[in-house]
Amino acid sequence: MSLPVRPAYVIYQWLWTGLDWLFPPNCGGCGVKGARWCAACQADAIVIQPPICIICGAINIVGEGQCFHCSNSRPSYSSLRSWALFKGSVRNAVHRLKYGKDVAMGEILSRPLIQIVSNQDWKIDLVIPVPLSVARKIERGYNQAALLARPISLATGWAYTPSALLRTRETASQVGLSIADRLINVSGAFEGNRIKLDKKNVLLVDDVTTSGATLMACSQALRLAGANEVYCVTLARAE
Ligand SMILES: [Zn+2]
Ligand SMILES: [Zn+2]
Repeated sequence: MSLPVRPAYVIYQWLWTGLDWLFPPNCGGCGVKGARWCAACQADAIVIQPPICIICGAINIVGEGQCFHCSNSRPSYSSLRSWALFKGSVRNAVHRLKYGKDVAMGEILSRPLIQIVSNQDWKIDLVIPVPLSVARKIERGYNQAALLARPISLATGWAYTPSALLRTRETASQVGLSIADRLINVSGAFEGNRIKLDKKNVLLVDDVTTSGATLMACSQALRLAGANEVYCVTLARAE
């Protein structure tokens, strides 16, 4: 399936072309002037290619198109796709998205995600970014996953509905935790809105996935609140 180009998205692209002309950007991957994402950084990105696990998108598959984890137990989401490995220029760009409040980075980095979702036969109703807690959002000023989710919604016409999923408690950093501990850490940290989610198919958007624990906790909350299918897309994947 390939999605039709929507007029609102075309206007949005014109706006960015104009802004880039007025305020020449520098590359989110390497800092070179003249582009928000340069050809060298694009070449440096390790884009994830098939064969991948048909469920979680992992690159290590063990027969029948599934990875070891998914063939043992299915995750709570329907499927997950990611654009590139969390390394080099991609890692730098994600860092800038996360800490630089860089809406322009969100626009350029959402493009491969729009391509990915257009190539799946996913029937989506709502686009939802993985939420930050209220305290974290106040501290940072914005949610980096939302910077990717908004342009996806604009390009596809799927409704941008961040209020359908809330993070109800702050979670400790996942860095250094095992997969099992990560799942425990984020379990029950999210709550879906029943009215908004009833029988809806959701596209959940995040910047990076490592173990998939956050996406699983979000999917559980979305399904508990009545969502039908939950599909996930992330910019990068840490292996
Ligand atoms: Zn670059
Ligand atoms: Zn898998």
